[in-house]
Amino acid sequence: MPSRNPLAGFITRATPQSQRIPGSGQVPNSAGGYVWPVDDWARLRRFLILGVDGPSYYASESALVAESAAAVLRCVVLDGPRTVDEITAVSTAGRNPRHQPVIFALAACAAAHDPDTRARALAALPAVCRTGTHLFLFAGYVEQFRGWGRGLRRAVADWYTTKDADALAYQLVKYQQRDGWSHRDLLRLAKPRPERDSATDLALRWAVGKAEVNGALPAGTPRILHAHRSAQAASTAADVIPLITEHRLPWEALRSEHLAAPEVWQALIPVTGLGALVRNLGRMTANGTLAPGSPGTHAVLARLADTGAIRSARLHPIAVLAALITYRSGRGARGRLTWDPIPAIVDALDDTFYRAFASVKPAGVRTLAALDVSGSMSGGVVAGVPGLTPRLASAAMAAVTLATEPEVITVAFNIAGKGAWVSPNHRRGGSDYGITPLPLSRRQRLDDILAAVDGFPFCGTDCSLPMLYALERGLAVDHFVVYTDSETWAGDIHPAQALQRYRERTGIAARLTVVAMVSNGFTIADPADAGMLDVVGFDTAAPQLMADFAAGRL
Ligand code: CA
Repeated sequence: MPSRNPLAGFITRATPQSQRIPGSGQVPNSAGGYVWPVDDWARLRRFLILGVDGPSYYASESALVAESAAAVLRCVVLDGPRTVDEITAVSTAGRNPRHQPVIFALAACAAAHDPDTRARALAALPAVCRTGTHLFLFAGYVEQFRGWGRGLRRAVADWYTTKDADALAYQLVKYQQRDGWSHRDLLRLAKPRPERDSATDLALRWAVGKAEVNGALPAGTPRILHAHRSAQAASTAADVIPLITEHRLPWEALRSEHLAAPEVWQALIPVTGLGALVRNLGRMTANGTLAPGSPGTHAVLARLADTGAIRSARLHPIAVLAALITYRSGRGARGRLTWDPIPAIVDALDDTFYRAFASVKPAGVRTLAALDVSGSMSGGVVAGVPGLTPRLASAAMAAVTLATEPEVITVAFNIAGKGAWVSPNHRRGGSDYGITPLPLSRRQRLDDILAAVDGFPFCGTDCSLPMLYALERGLAVDHFVVYTDSETWAGDIHPAQALQRYRERTGIAARLTVVAMVSNGFTIADPADAGMLDVVGFDTAAPQLMADFAAGRL
């Protein structure tokens, strides 16, 4: 008779995802599986980069806002100065697609109990809130956390008075009001005291409508304010063109009837910010400024190819991707404006997307890029771009890896499409959890790459499949990259255990990067395993971080 051995059933090498790996510190995700919680700093970074824009597949918008804000506030308590530094670092490097999350987080820091944190947050105001629009956004958020005490008033006053007067005047002309705030409102609260009759003083008087003396601007007033006045008084579009060219007068300073003229837009192309330029390509094509081979098109193509300018303008790849999707469709977001897309501009936007990431020193290792195309990855939008689901955004991020690494295999899971491999773990259950090869090429245009993952049906989620697939197919992989929301639940083995099995059986010290595509609190990366990394999707710093990690340079 065999002796009883109750301990023989306890295994830590393969645990169903519906159960916690014993002793691991895993927590339940929203899908009924167990994963690791990310720490508050990682959660902060996910929020700063991915933000909250509507609901995700599993959570309402208000729940996501509450969770994200709570993580920000916990970071402020844990280490307020570090929180300010993280916010400043993300913002000044332009790693965030949108400004709302970073400015919201800075406003929270400006209301910290700790006086050092408050002072540091207010000192970071000019670095994080670089434009008038940013400042208005901050003014709204900060009232959600605190009142207008002396420190806050002084910081806002300094925002106005420490700038070069011409730079200040440009901000005053370009961003007059937004979100219920105007410079007049802020100046009334902050009461800056520039030197009497200095250029700054005259500019601020202009902002509150008190600049004119005897029906004219005083001589010391910044020149762009004179130009603004001339543009407003100009009778023809031809009169405003020299003002634009000579003073870099932004389109906000022009009258709408002048903006209808293509030659005005032609003049605006060299002086318009890159973000506004890519957003207005459809409009400029519709009004005839851009046509195949036109001087306007030539000027736009030159700007889109200027990598240095793209970086210093902090043009985010998501903004380029959004512009590409809209421009190529030939139809504006609200559907009223239509145009015939110019192929050269579509191609240029495709190149600009890659230029907008910092140039990456490749890892040069064998890489398997696995895209989670499950149902939950099709819920919600990334960075407020209409139609850009986490699934499509993953494809765009995978395109960056394809463009930088020499040896990449790309697959989608869990989907048993054409040429699929079906996991034996699931075969017996009668379902078809599989891996489908995605034949993507670095020569494909981004919109084709997105289209390749758009057509898949929705299915369940098992994030261990990429490793099991590589093992069964005998693929040598140094670096697994999984693009997911970590809402995995369906497998007989956890992804971290599958990676361990892969390492043991192949002898390859394979690493795993989890690219978070939703701002939740979960990861399949075991924090105790130095061979696993968690990065945030669409962080412009992510591709280099992943390459350094994969190459063992971290
Ligand atoms: Ca899922």
